[in-house]
Amino acid sequence: MTAHDMLQLQTVDSALDSITHRRPRLPEKLAHDADVAALAAVQAAMAAAQARIDAAQRSIDLAEHSAADLTTKRTRLEAQLKTVIAPREAEALMSQIANINAQRSDLDDQELAALDEQSAGEADLLSAGEGQPALQAMCDASAAALAAALAELAAQEVSLHAERDALAASFNADDRATYDHARKQFGVGVAQLQHSHCSGCHMDLSPAELDLVKSAPAGEPSECPQCGRILIR
Ligand SMILES: [Zn+2]
Repeated sequence: MTAHDMLQLQTVDSALDSITHRRPRLPEKLAHDADVAALAAVQAAMAAAQARIDAAQRSIDLAEHSAADLTTKRTRLEAQLKTVIAPREAEALMSQIANINAQRSDLDDQELAALDEQSAGEADLLSAGEGQPALQAMCDASAAALAAALAELAAQEVSLHAERDALAASFNADDRATYDHARKQFGVGVAQLQHSHCSGCHMDLSPAELDLVKSAPAGEPSECPQCGRILIR
């Protein structure tokens, strides 16, 4: 294991981190999420219109059922009316029939209103559903684009993991522990000495610290005295 290998491993790990970070932020993902939300909004509007149609249908059914009951009742009263002789009894029956006719008229009005409501619901359903096929097609296309982008990231990951395995194989247990510790602590645990400057913490090293870092054998990693990152020169 050389300092260069350690830096290389850090580069590979950073590339893997970058993929993890990018995956949920892919433009293809944001585009697909937007399509899914737009489609869901259209489907919700269609469901609301359908609920309006169904509620109107229940009102129509109820009005028709009540009207049929009233018709049966009126037929019975009309038959009775033909058999009564006493004028007071006939008057009472005629008054009941008039009452039923008034109720029927109210029911007819209710049914007409429900039919109007149903037509309005059907118009809503039609207009809400107009864009659905195009949105569904967009959604399918953006899903395919997202799948392709994710597959591309997955392929990059496979290749990076292979590179990482090969690099890590050259690390002994101590080097691996040092690297893992620095990576866990800092995320990017390996820094480079740039002139007298640590690329990890961006601090300048004092001349004495520089001498100490430079006294390590060439190619061997040392440690930044400011931040503790593995320092490669
Ligand atoms: Zn540092």
